[in-house]
Amino acid sequence: MTDRVRCYDCGNDYELGEQAHCTCGETLWLETDVGDFEWPGGGIDDSWRYADVLPTVERVGVEPGGTPLVRAERVDAFAGCQVSLKVEGCNPTGSFKDRGSAVGVGYAARAGYDWVGTVSHGNMALSTSAYAAAAGLECAVFVPSETPPERLELIARHDPHVFRVEGDYGQLYADTLSLEADVAFVNSDTPLRVAGQKTTAYEILEAFAPSVPDAIVLPTSSGGHASGVWKGLRELERAGLIDEVPRIYVAQAAPCDPIATAYREGRGTVTAVDADETIAVSIANSDPPSGTRALRAVRETGGGAVSVTDDETRAAMAELATTAGISVEPSSAVALAGVRKLSRDGELAADDEVVTILTGSGYTERLQTDVGQRTRTIDLADLETELDAIVGE
Ligand SMILES: [Zn+2]
Repeated sequence: MTDRVRCYDCGNDYELGEQAHCTCGETLWLETDVGDFEWPGGGIDDSWRYADVLPTVERVGVEPGGTPLVRAERVDAFAGCQVSLKVEGCNPTGSFKDRGSAVGVGYAARAGYDWVGTVSHGNMALSTSAYAAAAGLECAVFVPSETPPERLELIARHDPHVFRVEGDYGQLYADTLSLEADVAFVNSDTPLRVAGQKTTAYEILEAFAPSVPDAIVLPTSSGGHASGVWKGLRELERAGLIDEVPRIYVAQAAPCDPIATAYREGRGTVTAVDADETIAVSIANSDPPSGTRALRAVRETGGGAVSVTDDETRAAMAELATTAGISVEPSSAVALAGVRKLSRDGELAADDEVVTILTGSGYTERLQTDVGQRTRTIDLADLETELDAIVGE
């Protein structure tokens, strides 16, 4: 596999790391020679099974990927279609970010870097610092100054250097990629991270093979994951392993939905929006660096972009927890809320097979403070009568 990157839009190519963006302003991804790639066969254990189509890296940390794909029939009524759930919360640090961190940090380790860095106040910071720790590398994490202490505590567990930055967060993301510092930045839409994240699509399609799902729906922030899924599908089509490409739908929270806004307005590029607060903090990105690439992904696959209210997200989060037994963070629930909306809008049919990517676990953050209506305090002496009263209800 080469270490050259190519602009998805105009096709210009560069050495990896030579520049952050194409001269046309659009984003870059690694060139991949799929050659005569075949499904590896056997159980889908982890994402290194696709090493032939990934950059050569030092393997560090716990293997990412190999996450469950659950055919969740009990969620069909809510979703309005035949829904399968890709449970990315089962990755080592609880989110899909581990796929890209393993590749990005592993590449930095092989290239002889002492430092890696990232710009994130959530899952990516946690994931990057975990893989850096496993590689014996120092890690610099840049977070917005207002990041709450409970999030900092999670990020700090793997002992990175955390910089709370005052100033524009979108600008910070771009600025880190043009720094002269000897730090390998693995931000959310950089080519190595996107390469790792394409393995979500590989796993889904290998699980379905030789069939193909009708659609893949995922929550979208920077557009890096959607870009990775699109890249994966394109490669699999090129390798002759799929005849049809599933439609990609991106789901966003209505208070902060720049990609869905551009889609609704029929525009070809994504621009920044004035965002409001949302419970889906992990995907609240008002100026997504790969937004336009994500928009292209949905258009070229015949999919779309949808946004949902926080109340719709809460309903989907409760549905997943109480019907499928899966706790997800609000940003992941946005995807299922999006599926429901797409079904109601007639975009998805009742017999469509739809994979919903649940990007992150709900167990890595406190989602609410109440203990639930089914929690009660009883006296030990009343154990049997209390239980009888409930079981008999
Ligand atoms: Zn270009």
